[in-house]
Amino acid sequence: MAKKEEKKFLVKKCPYCSTPLKTEDKVCFSCKHRVGPPDKTGTATIPGRWKSYVSLAGALVVVYAYFRYVFFG
Ligand SMILES: [Zn+2]
Repeated sequence: MAKKEEKKFLVKKCPYCSTPLKTEDKVCFSCKHRVGPPDKTGTATIPGRWKSYVSLAGALVVVYAYFRYVFFG
């Protein structure tokens, strides 16, 4: 790999299966995962990940509320 790199990538790597994709691709044709624009290493970013954190936090709140209800009325 040449050290002198362009800022714009022609391809990006799928973060899930390392398949080379076009930079404008939004879905990996190989593993069907959604991919975002390339980061500075040329690997596609993973979009929408914060949503899973939000739903995880929501699930924890529900579990907490449930246990509170069961043990403390
Ligand atoms: Zn993939």
